[in-house]
Amino acid sequence: MSDDPTTSQEAQLARLVAVYPIADELGARFSAHGHELYLVGGTVRDTLLRGPGAQDLDFATSARPEQTERIVAGWADSIWLTGARFGTVSAHKDGYQLEITTFRSDAYPAGSRHPQVTYGNSIEEDLARRDFTINAMAVRVPEHRFADPHGGLSDLAEGALRTPIDPETSFGDDPLRMVRLARFSAVIDVRPDDAATKAAEAMADRLDEISRERIRDELDKLIVGAHVARGVDLLVETGLADRFLPEVSALRMQHDPVHHHKDVYKHSLAVVERCPADDRILRLAALLHDIGKPATRQFHGHGKVSFHHHEVVGARMARARLTELRYPKDEIEAICHLIALHLRFHGYADEPWTDAGVRRYVRDAGDDLALRRLNLLTRADVTTRNRRKAERLQAAMDDLEARIAALREQEALDAIRPPLDGNQIMRHLGLEPGPDVGRARQMLLDARLDQGPMSEEEAYALLDAWADRDGRGSQ
Ligand code: ATP
Ligand code: MG
Repeated sequence: MSDDPTTSQEAQLARLVAVYPIADELGARFSAHGHELYLVGGTVRDTLLRGPGAQDLDFATSARPEQTERIVAGWADSIWLTGARFGTVSAHKDGYQLEITTFRSDAYPAGSRHPQVTYGNSIEEDLARRDFTINAMAVRVPEHRFADPHGGLSDLAEGALRTPIDPETSFGDDPLRMVRLARFSAVIDVRPDDAATKAAEAMADRLDEISRERIRDELDKLIVGAHVARGVDLLVETGLADRFLPEVSALRMQHDPVHHHKDVYKHSLAVVERCPADDRILRLAALLHDIGKPATRQFHGHGKVSFHHHEVVGARMARARLTELRYPKDEIEAICHLIALHLRFHGYADEPWTDAGVRRYVRDAGDDLALRRLNLLTRADVTTRNRRKAERLQAAMDDLEARIAALREQEALDAIRPPLDGNQIMRHLGLEPGPDVGRARQMLLDARLDQGPMSEEEAYALLDAWADRDGRGSQ
């Protein structure tokens, strides 16, 4: 570490920008047309933090979208104008995705659900309306002149998240920035300064003006952050979570001095952070896995507390919440299914299941990905400080996974079907299509799950026994 991180990072920046030759090439074209071009925002920030390697390059320019279009035409491999209304021209070139946005000004009409676009006249004006100082740095190309009027470089070195202008004005212009505050705290190693945190606390209810989709997109980025617990905690402590994720705030249940139990909120944060960061669905499930607890808590005296069926209640609550946040249906299903099943494994540790129990667990989990997620969630859910207990549970999960692998080998578990199909059943029993056929199929499927693979002969014998017992003619 150098004594003066600012200078050393600035020098680093100059070197790093040189390795986006495509940016210089584009800058020269804008220059030739009398326009300014800057690498800006997240691209500059991430290049400083992680070095070059970005495939998405963000630019700001003095040129208007129509002018930008003319400048990149014939040079770029392809051009998109879908964002031109908002000042952005997108282009592809040599595998890079380029977003070139006309300078914006900081004038916003109050009360709009989406920020409105007013063009600005200079990079300084543009940077002043950006969300945070670490996102308000720019590098002029091809000259490599660094513009950092708000001290973003030193804030990045100090890990400080600050707004370029006073936070009340900034958050008032676009309340989504309050959620972005938490998002960046979760994703990179920065912490909001007091002024920003206080403003978010005071203005949390302004989030109601913001579309749920924009909030969801930020939550999706926050949840996969390396510091996700810090980001969620910021949402909760400022009151922002009350506006779009109240179930998570509610995990901070009042502690009863007599009935000690572990803090469900802290536990939930720990579980999220223990889940792999690259799995957004799993992490969302982890965040929400215990939200059914406050509503199901019961005290039984002698310090005993229970949360009966909290996984069922929690899955239901999660479905409503995620729907409200406009999550796609398949993602909602995947998340709620994990929540509903997150307790299923418990008990196995006390008494390992039969093969039938293991098969049912695999089947109920769903496909391979869902099963892998369920097992990861179950492992992450073990946050007890009691080391013996933690080791026992992890060992039991190792054991269950080994049993699943063994069973898989022995039979193609994924392909489980009743040993006879509907036509065979009808022909054998002389049935017409109807509910009896379905019941016979279900009986055979249950038998197949209980007993494992069987021959057709055995299956027909089961069918006969079933028909004699209670099947035939019971419609
Ligand atoms: P990432 O792309 O990794 O999500 P990013 O910083 O590039 O991070 P984007 O949402 O892509 O974030 O925005 C690009 C840049 O635009 C930001 O760095 C910031 O300068 C500016 N910006 C984005 N959203 C806002 C906003 N709501 N208010 C002000 N400035 C914003
Ligand atoms: Mg970006």
